[in-house]
Amino acid sequence: DLQFKLANNLQSSLDLHTTLELFFNNIQDAVALHGLSYSPPASQKRFTLGEAKVHKANYAISGDNVQLGQIEFSRSKRFLEAELAMLEMMVGVLFYPLRNALLYQQALENSFRDSLTGVGNRSAFDASFDRELKLAQRHQLPLSVMVLDIDHFKQVNDQHGHQHGDRVLKQVAEVLLKALRETDQIFRYGGEEFVILLNNTDLHSATLIAERIRVHIAMTPCPLAGKQTFVSISAGVSQIQATDNGETLFGRADEALYRAKAEGRNCVRSENNVALSSEQAL
Ligand code: GH3
Ligand code: MG
Ligand code: MG
Repeated sequence: DLQFKLANNLQSSLDLHTTLELFFNNIQDAVALHGLSYSPPASQKRFTLGEAKVHKANYAISGDNVQLGQIEFSRSKRFLEAELAMLEMMVGVLFYPLRNALLYQQALENSFRDSLTGVGNRSAFDASFDRELKLAQRHQLPLSVMVLDIDHFKQVNDQHGHQHGDRVLKQVAEVLLKALRETDQIFRYGGEEFVILLNNTDLHSATLIAERIRVHIAMTPCPLAGKQTFVSISAGVSQIQATDNGETLFGRADEALYRAKAEGRNCVRSENNVALSSEQAL
């Protein structure tokens, strides 16, 4: 009866956090608890509800040869045997709703990720750009946009094949991930074009960062059977102004990128033409 009610209630949501909340609230009728903590498999992230207390009961959630992580209940009073048996039964009821919520979350994450490089895709960029722009304007914080494009990428494909081109794209994304801070957001905007959103970063700093990235990429060999090849990027940078919308802010970075291409490639240009020497950047 309790099981049935719980199973029924858990059906009402696919969201992971909501599912856990429903679970936590519903089992209180059977076993009073202070806290719940859930660790999904292969993830650092932990979900906690309520307040952790000294007495704990731990369960691995599994079934159908699938592991769904660990759940821990806690409260200030010792658990009775009958309560532990009840909790174990409830964890059994949680299995399918939790599996569905995890699958749903994975699907959501994948829909915002570029499958080749693992960075954010165009949809993710559109969503983040809008949010970051509004945040920066509301709090009057600097926000810079960097647009970068691989130089002569068509030749890379033509000379070494599309598969090698794909490897180069992956490698460029890896260099970006390594070179940037965790708060910087990286997106694959289109074919061989990436956009980076730099929070709390003014034009000068963003230009230095772009220059550092340019050097990194130019110096990182792309392994190709039997030989090494190199690629370079060109980049354009702009900084938010009070009157900007996404189109104008992005447009100025894109225009700067266009100049970088026109002025010889393998270089960085900012909207204000901030001149940079390589020594300054290194
Ligand atoms: P520029 O220096 O002016 O940027 O020249 P470019 O050759 O890089 O520019 P262009 O826009 O002419 O060519 C871009 C090429 O990128 C063409 C396309 O075949 C390639 N490309 C786009 N997406 C992918 C992809 O996912 N994988 C591979 N291997 N190539 C791609
Ligand atoms: Mg290109
Ligand atoms: Mg391009």
